[in-house]
Amino acid sequence: MPYTAPVDQIAHTLQRIARLEDIAATGAFPNFDAELVAPILDEANKLARDVLAPLNPIGHKHGAKLTDNGVIAAPGFAEAYAQFRDGGWMGLAFPEEYGGQGLPKVLALAVMEMVHGANMAFGLCPLLTFGAIEAILAHGTDEQKKTYLPKLISGEWTGAMNLTEPQAGSDVGALKTKAIPNGDGSYSITGQKIFITWGDHDMTENVVQLVLARLPDAPAGSRGISLFVAPKFLVNADGSLGERNAIRCIGLEHKMGIHASPTCVMEYAGAKGWLVGEPNKGLAAMFTMMNSARLNVGLEGVAVGEAAFQAALAYARDRKQGSAPSIEGSAPIIRHPDIQRSLASMAAAVQASRAICYACGAAADLAEHASDPAIREAAKLREDLLTPLAKAWSTDRAIDVTNTGVQIHGGMGFMSETSAAQFYLDARITPIYEGTNGIQAIDLVGRKLSMNNGAAMAAMLADIRNTAREARASNEPKLVVIADRLDAAAAALDEATQWMIAAMKSTRETGLSGASAYLRLAGDVVGGHFLTLSAITDRGRPLALARFYAEDTLSRAPGAIAAITSASETLQDAAGELLSDA
Ligand SMILES: Cc1cc2nc3c(=O)[nH]c(=O)nc-3n(C[C@H](O)[C@H](O)[C@H](O)COP(=O)(O)OP(=O)(O)OC[C@H]3O[C@@H](n4cnc5c(N)ncnc54)[C@H](O)[C@@H]3O)c2cc1C
Repeated sequence: MPYTAPVDQIAHTLQRIARLEDIAATGAFPNFDAELVAPILDEANKLARDVLAPLNPIGHKHGAKLTDNGVIAAPGFAEAYAQFRDGGWMGLAFPEEYGGQGLPKVLALAVMEMVHGANMAFGLCPLLTFGAIEAILAHGTDEQKKTYLPKLISGEWTGAMNLTEPQAGSDVGALKTKAIPNGDGSYSITGQKIFITWGDHDMTENVVQLVLARLPDAPAGSRGISLFVAPKFLVNADGSLGERNAIRCIGLEHKMGIHASPTCVMEYAGAKGWLVGEPNKGLAAMFTMMNSARLNVGLEGVAVGEAAFQAALAYARDRKQGSAPSIEGSAPIIRHPDIQRSLASMAAAVQASRAICYACGAAADLAEHASDPAIREAAKLREDLLTPLAKAWSTDRAIDVTNTGVQIHGGMGFMSETSAAQFYLDARITPIYEGTNGIQAIDLVGRKLSMNNGAAMAAMLADIRNTAREARASNEPKLVVIADRLDAAAAALDEATQWMIAAMKSTRETGLSGASAYLRLAGDVVGGHFLTLSAITDRGRPLALARFYAEDTLSRAPGAIAAITSASETLQDAAGELLSDA
């Protein structure tokens, strides 16, 4: 069952949730015209469906290979990348000044959903390149921008993010890679990075590494890390490629999924690099890359969930087992209520997470470009609040969704040749990289809830209650029921939020014990808010999904409070047991 992008739902989400017209109204996107959206989505769908999706099982089977000449991408990937590059997809949302098309970020997000849905391993290459571009745009010198941005934005070169080392995973501040000044403005970088996605490959002639390293006099921990740019091939003054830099992939990881995405061990043996941003301020630059990547990883969850849903729906229509009312002979399994429930839960989770990710992308566009400073500030708070939800909630749902997809396939789902198994295996990385979901929960309760005295969640709750009011005012009986569920869920989130803010102020450990459960509740409720918002204007499929979600998920919100507020106490007992002989 080949993937086809859900163009209508994506367009609907762009319109109703991301509110593209508000973004266009900022005046910051002179090239944007609402008429452009449909042709862009259609073209992206053709690339995803006809070029990238057929390569997905091939990439899973063959993977990338390490040779004496570096990493060779899986069969067909270089040709597909050439089409992606020539279509100008890399530069859709980057400034025209550097060769981009200057369109809203959220539109690029919609395109990337299609790319990831068709082939997540392929999509990781642009995903990491976006992070590198964002970092250079925000923190690079004019010279660095001139040297790297046109090549990265055109897709002629790709980028990679080198943070992780064996002893420095979630705790990036523990990294040991060294950068010694050469005295000519460049630095000599030495160390080893692990797990570097698309750190090397043969799809482009150069790979631009963004590398975190430590200067000789750097303070310990995360306050002593600096960001550097170090290309695989050094760039001559005229822009042509020069010497090979001392950066090599010395090993490829063997993984449970995303086989076609090379996960490289990178060796830096005195590689030449240049500081990006201020010395010892690498953490800020890293967050520029990470925030872009976190939202895009959340989007991977949406995309692979959608692909799993499509495959499960097709299988459920085709596979016959057992009997069902008014069906003669064997019934397609989609006639069984349990399969219907499974499919509905997949569809609702995918649409709710799509809405959260697009709302986050739209907030990022407004935070950067709205002309009114008050709108920019409110949008920044919304973006910051939604980023951990987009990343963690969407990817946790992707695990549920792809898992349900395997279940719907029965024994066939366990067979390696079905796409259901690949979707599950590919999705499994998404809660882990770009900051594990546990780390996202800490970010949510530790930083995001306390921003501006709790203004971000207070504004979100006000919006949720407003949506419930609108739903009730519609007088559509199903929307009135949804409004009741949404109001009760908002009250639960409000109570949990007040508790969490107080707990984090008094005994941080107490709050942290409930952080993941809190993130789950927040995502459940915010997801329900967006589904309801869609249903208010569109009564067909959006209303059906919102109604299902209200009963299936929102109804559980009031019961989720105890798991958050009692976590510290219950964990003390449980962890005491676990730690007793550790
Ligand atoms: C396929 C793949 C691709 C990757 N791509 C890249 C890449 O391109 N560039 C790059 O730099 N890195 C990359 N990574 C690394 C990835 O970002 C890290 O694996 C991730 O940040 C987690 O670090 P870790 O694996 O060391 O786990 P650890 O940090 O050891 O975490 C183990 C567990 O402990 C928990 N934990 C750790 N610290 C805390 C804490 N303070 N509080 C609560 N819980 C905690 C975590 O949530 C996790 O569940 C990739 C990894 C993989 C597997």
